[in-house]
Amino acid sequence: MMITITGTPGTGKTTVSQLLHQRLDSKLISINSLLDDYDLNLGTDEVRGYRIVDTEAMIPIINDIKNENAETLLIFEGHLAQDYPFSDLIVVLRCDPLILKERLSHRNWKDKKVDENVSAEILGVCTSESYETYGDIVQEVDTTNKSPEEIVDILVKIIDGDVVCPLGVIDYLGKYFNLLD
Ligand code: ADP
Ligand code: MG
Repeated sequence: MMITITGTPGTGKTTVSQLLHQRLDSKLISINSLLDDYDLNLGTDEVRGYRIVDTEAMIPIINDIKNENAETLLIFEGHLAQDYPFSDLIVVLRCDPLILKERLSHRNWKDKKVDENVSAEILGVCTSESYETYGDIVQEVDTTNKSPEEIVDILVKIIDGDVVCPLGVIDYLGKYFNLLD
């Protein structure tokens, strides 16, 4: 069984995935750690300061890890994790764009990179990309005003099949379209 956790940078993927990993017997794979262990780097977008990830090359690597851990709960987390198409569950973490902007302001990123990510959250880019890969099995969790522990509680219920958080509930566009970059 594999759960993919994606979302705009700053929505809490790494924090929440590590807590979930502590809570459940599981193996945690983060895209950032794969970048250290495998050659997935296609270079850097100098204007924005992004590392460009070779998500095509990521697919056979994850397939191998999956095959080697067939009996284990796999938690796969990272921005662009939605480009891996063979997960059983996929959850997009969402966060109020103003809170996200505040969090990203601590990352020492270029303003352009912060603003693009805030706009991506307003527009739900990660959700629409996840939908392109997975269709309506994609779930969304609004993390705003929830502690990481509370979010993990929800994820455990999603894994157990006790809760479904369907698409179409979270919409930041109506409130924040004027902040679009
Ligand atoms: P991501 O991996 O999605 O980029 P992180 O897990 O690195 O996000 O979290 C970004 C920042 O937000 C960190 O400083 C983290 O401590 C904080 N954070 C994450 N989740 C929450 C939450 N539910 N409530 C408050 N702060 C959070
Ligand atoms: Mg992270």
